[in-house]
Parts: sequence; C-alpha cells; structure tokens
Amino acid sequence: MDNSYKKRMQRKKEYIDSRIDAANIDKGIIVLLTGNGKGKSSSAMGMICRSLAYDMKVGVVRFLKGEQASGEDIFLKNQKGVSIFLMKAGFTWDTQNKQLDMEKALEAWVEAKNFLNDPEIGLVVLDEITYMVSYNYIDEKSIIKALSGRPKNQHVVITGRAASKNLIEIADTVSEVKNIKHAFSENIRAQQGIDL
Ligand code: ATP
Ligand code: MG
Repeated sequence: MDNSYKKRMQRKKEYIDSRIDAANIDKGIIVLLTGNGKGKSSSAMGMICRSLAYDMKVGVVRFLKGEQASGEDIFLKNQKGVSIFLMKAGFTWDTQNKQLDMEKALEAWVEAKNFLNDPEIGLVVLDEITYMVSYNYIDEKSIIKALSGRPKNQHVVITGRAASKNLIEIADTVSEVKNIKHAFSENIRAQQGIDL
C-alpha cells in the first residue's frame, strides 16, 4: 500500500520534472484576462508588483477610466519605475459623448504604443483595452500590429470583458474570470481596498 503510493508519487514527480525541464524558453508573453467576474485588473496589479520586485520598468495605460481614481492608481503614481497614463474620459454611459471618448481613446493608445516600442519597459498593462476594440474606438489591427512588433522580452497584460477572437489568438495565456456572485448585486457599494 505504502509502496504503491510512493511509486505513484515518484512517477508524478518524474512527469512534473520533465515538464519543467522542457519549459526552457524565455520570452515576453501576453496575458489576457477576460470574463464577467471580478479579479482582472487586480490580477494585473499583482503582476505589476511581481515585476517591480525584479526592478523591471512598468508602463500602465488604463482605458475607460471612471472619474474616481482607484487605490492602485494612487499607489502606482508614487512608484519609481512605473509610468502610468489614465484615459481621462469616463465610461461611455457617464460621458455620453462619443466623439470625446474616441479622441481620449486615441490619446491613450498613443501612450500605449510608446510603451510597446520601448525595450526598457519589461511589463506593459493595457487595462480595459478590450472595450476599445468592441466600441471600435481603436482599430484592432493597429493593436495586433503593435503587440506583434513589441520588444521580444516585453510582457503585456491585457484586461477587459468580452475579449475579441483576435486578441485571444495573439495572447499566450488567456483566463476567463467567471462571475459566480458579486457583493454589488446585494447593494453593497464598491469598497476601498477591494473594488477601488
Ligand atoms: P477588479 O478591478 O476588482 O479586479 P475587474 O477588473 O475584474 O475587477 P471590471 O469589469 O474592470 O472588473 O470592473 C471593475 C469594478 O467593477 C470593480 O470595482 C469590481 O469589483 C466591479 N465588478 C467586477 N465584476 C463585477 C460584477 N460581476 N458585478 C458587479 N461589479 C463587478
Ligand atoms: Mg478591470
């Protein structure tokens, strides 16, 4: 009994070790976090922390920014090694000005492209950029082109609901966060430290 458990664990260890040995490539990867559940932008923040711990430079562009600054933006503004650009328009249903939203989106995209061209930046976060594609504010082809042409060791994290097929295709790691329940549906307002 004990012996067969040991053998099974040994086989498992051999398999895992062989997989670890096989994964010997280093390259910049694209992580795409999508889906309707909570946890996409805050996960991006986790990867920013990890990157900063290794003295990597980080570029963040937040698309579709509401009026209220979130805790991570307040924190990131004081971080050496982080360049952050917040799109100044709110959500479309707040501003109700498509022309203005589009102009702000393109402004933010110029900043994002600068980050995607800069080999000094190890991690680029394009927060909520999926909406720019679904609203047709930024040409998807131009996003794909900038992502494909970026420095080869640069990582990118993309977040936002309803990611397009092409973004899913170009990403190396894709996770869909599923909503099971959210406190907001029980009329609990967004909480500092958790939601903003
Ligand atoms: P977070 O920034 O907390 O990781 P997110 O990036 O996954 O969330 P977004 O769609 O960008 O989710 O929404 C941001 C805000 O909306 C957060 O305050 C979050 O708690 C809230 N939120 C996320 N998902 C839901 C949901 N299913 N129902 C209600 N509110 C949500
Ligand atoms: Mg988000």
